[in-house]
Amino acid sequence: TDYLARIDATNPGINAFITVDRDGALAAADAADKAIAAGTAGPLAGVPIAHKDIFCTEGVLTTCGSKMLANFVSPYDANVVSQLKAAGAVSLGKTNLDEFAMGSTNESSYFGAVRNPWNTACVPGGSSGGSAAAIAAGMVPAATGTDTGGSIRQPAGLCGITGIKPSYGVVSRYGMIAYASSLDQGGPMAHTAEDCAILLNHMAGFDTRDSTSLERAKEDYTRDLAKPLAGLRIGLPKEYFGEGLANDVRAAIDNALAELKKLGATTVEVSLPNTHLAIPAYYVIAPAEASSNLSRFDGVRYGHRAAEYKDLAEMYSKSRAEGFGAEVKRRILVGAYVLSHGYYDAYYIKAQQLRRLIAQDFQQALTQCDVIAGPVAPTAAWELGKMADDPVQMYLADLYTIAVNLAGLPALSTPGGFSSTGLPVGLQLIGNYFAESRLLNVAHQLQ
Ligand code: GLN
Repeated sequence: TDYLARIDATNPGINAFITVDRDGALAAADAADKAIAAGTAGPLAGVPIAHKDIFCTEGVLTTCGSKMLANFVSPYDANVVSQLKAAGAVSLGKTNLDEFAMGSTNESSYFGAVRNPWNTACVPGGSSGGSAAAIAAGMVPAATGTDTGGSIRQPAGLCGITGIKPSYGVVSRYGMIAYASSLDQGGPMAHTAEDCAILLNHMAGFDTRDSTSLERAKEDYTRDLAKPLAGLRIGLPKEYFGEGLANDVRAAIDNALAELKKLGATTVEVSLPNTHLAIPAYYVIAPAEASSNLSRFDGVRYGHRAAEYKDLAEMYSKSRAEGFGAEVKRRILVGAYVLSHGYYDAYYIKAQQLRRLIAQDFQQALTQCDVIAGPVAPTAAWELGKMADDPVQMYLADLYTIAVNLAGLPALSTPGGFSSTGLPVGLQLIGNYFAESRLLNVAHQLQ
């Protein structure tokens, strides 16, 4: 009830929640109390959380930040939702996001922009900006997010919290509305790396309902938190510290790296030579997959349907024209174009080749170091509206996050100091496949 009261007081100015599930939360909290009294409680009994509104929740609206799904109630829970529920966590509701998770500012939501609690004139980042802002404003201690090209790490960085994108295939995508299936990955967001590790224990795991879920033994992601950092080799990609990185962000990152050195780490310069190809490759592959994934929203089975139409074709086109916002339409158009006959080889196949080169860059760099460190975003949070009409400028701000998704690697954002205007700066740590525990260890030691 304390958190619900905090949401009532704070959310109107931040707009982090699309749905507050007051009744569901109170009932779940009651059940958790009873389970604790009976000695049958799960490890997260009574812990308040929130879900990004891209995870399907039985009986509670799942909008994906879109008019298309503004009235959609899923008949089932996402894997992540059911696992956290089974552990006893209490969901307070669903957090705001860029429409269908497409964006880096949280301004494309049908339910309005989210504001950054550190400065409400600024964006919280995106697309999991609702989750990040809710945590930063104290409305909930932890939340789920998804990361296709940075959507956990970038809002975590801009809001001064911690968020980890696991290796591709570690967290089941079942019930997570698909944006770009080969890149999408769910993960936890919280104040600390320790809380993220605890949450990840109840989000990860093999799931037969997701064909890309990996069959691996269950891990305890808290197991390495206390490990000293002596001997840790941190690689600093020279491409991540070049042109485009704001001076104040660079200074904050340098300070954070100095702290890590005091804790026993050493640094070495590494190179990710194909970094400049990551944005072009991503903004071909992600829209291509999105155009295919979003074809299911046709006004027939669920979602928005136009009120008036002459025939089936017009029902499709009017429903989609009315249901999707500008950014989503832009991605569908780009995606359909790059997949079309005659352009497929030139764009889509080419982008897949670049993807392989980008993944190889990381493998090469990780022979010289244990983890890679750098900024999450080139600047601290910027003002609302600044990039709203300039999608290319917004895409460029994803420079340091999207290559990780193309490679399928785990990466996190941990608080890394402040900008010259007093806004949080995120330090990004990238590891090799399944190095989540190591990344959480480094972040925990720094925190
Ligand atoms: N900003 C990127 C995009 O718009 C990443 C979004 C995400 O990770 N969901 O595609």
